[in-house]
Amino acid sequence: MRLLVIEDDPDLNRQLATALTDAGYVVDRAFDGEEGHYLGETEPYDAVILDIGLPKMDGISVLESWRRAGRAMPVLILTARDRWSDKVQGFDAGADDYVAKPFHLEEVLARIRALLRRSAGHAKSELICGTVRLDTRTGRVTIDGNPVKLTSHEYRLLSYLMHHAGRVVSRTELVEHLYDQDFDRDSNTIEVFVGRIRKKLGVDIIQTVRGLGYLLTPLDAR
Ligand code: CA
Repeated sequence: MRLLVIEDDPDLNRQLATALTDAGYVVDRAFDGEEGHYLGETEPYDAVILDIGLPKMDGISVLESWRRAGRAMPVLILTARDRWSDKVQGFDAGADDYVAKPFHLEEVLARIRALLRRSAGHAKSELICGTVRLDTRTGRVTIDGNPVKLTSHEYRLLSYLMHHAGRVVSRTELVEHLYDQDFDRDSNTIEVFVGRIRKKLGVDIIQTVRGLGYLLTPLDAR
């Protein structure tokens, strides 16, 4: 899952990016409204954390502009404490959730998890595909209850496919959502990682759809 953090306070921006990276996401960062607006308009993010008070272009204008242009990714806004009007304006502009400053990083992480699974159509934090279970809170993957050790990259790939189970995901889409903007992207490496995940899981839940991409079938999606 690839996220965008737009926050002009350098310390806060770094704290958010570090916490999100540690939680297994790929994170791009912007420090003013113009730069953030451009990235959100041109790159496919799974979710965005957007500060309201930003230099060059304020967060509300950034969000309004994205929504007018049809950009539908989930957006969590960061509002100043006691500024109830920020929240109202934010929701009216198309925000999906908010956190008031100062906040605990854990709360931001929990809200992002919820936004990501909701936008992919899941109500629960544990994703299930056949005997494979992926807990988005802990980052744990199990098969028949036995833990499977995945690298952070393998986890990101499996998590993306499990969030989007039931539809074909192309290699290009995977590359766009698993690597940050500075990464030298090569879609052939995806094949390699899918191979490793299949081997580690030992069950073939990832189907290759020739010429199109990968499909994870949500068996027993209870
Ligand atoms: Ca600010």
